[in-house]
Amino acid sequence: MSNDIPADARVIIVGGGIVGCSVAYHLTKLGWRDVVLLEQGELAGGTTWHAAGLIGRLRTSNSLTKINKYSAELYASLEAETGVSTGWNQVGSLIVARTQERMTQLYRTAAMAEMFDVEARMIDVDKACDLWPQMNSEGLLGGVWLPHDGKVIPADTTLALAAGARQAVRESSNRSV
Ligand SMILES: Cc1cc2nc3c(=O)[nH]c(=O)nc-3n(C[C@H](O)[C@H](O)[C@H](O)COP(=O)(O)OP(=O)(O)OC[C@H]3O[C@@H](n4cnc5c(N)ncnc54)[C@H](O)[C@@H]3O)c2cc1C
Repeated sequence: MSNDIPADARVIIVGGGIVGCSVAYHLTKLGWRDVVLLEQGELAGGTTWHAAGLIGRLRTSNSLTKINKYSAELYASLEAETGVSTGWNQVGSLIVARTQERMTQLYRTAAMAEMFDVEARMIDVDKACDLWPQMNSEGLLGGVWLPHDGKVIPADTTLALAAGARQAVRESSNRSV
């Protein structure tokens, strides 16, 4: 981090939340060296700081699902690449239903997951309670289990992306010397 602002740059990113740091990470991975990220406070000090960090792979379209699948894989591997932990933990996610209408919606969720190549299993109440024993199962009809979902620590993930961006610039500078 530096308080000196360069006079020019190929790209200037405003905001060092997870989005700005991810843009910096991916541009530098593509070989862009002249990337400046401006942050008015601290990296990850904005909305990112408040996020719960849940990483669900299934989204409402195939392209959004592909982005989330890629993100989950990146967050799982970023610590090995940068030495900065993202806090990735593949805990899975569990959605339960208390009405027949909600069960129908969960069947649709599971069908959509299959179409988008995301593992999702319809489960009964006993299995749901095995997965989350603290749950009050009264009135539940069943649920859907997505075993590959997980969570990160959003601020740490942001710092890992920033570290990866700096590393990529250093590596490409060394290559061109
Ligand atoms: C309570 C809560 C829970 C959430 N849970 C989840 C979740 O579980 N999973 C999930 O995927 N998403 C979750 N989100 C959403 C997620 O937090 C946001 O989508 C994400 O953090 C947005 O990142 P960002 O980089 O766009 O914004 P920010 O993190 O807000 O970053 C913007 C940065 O820009 C800086 N900035 C602004 N203006 C300027 C300027 N003029 N000059 C310099 N710097 C500037 C700010 O200081 C800030 O650091 C949650 C959000 C909230 C509020």
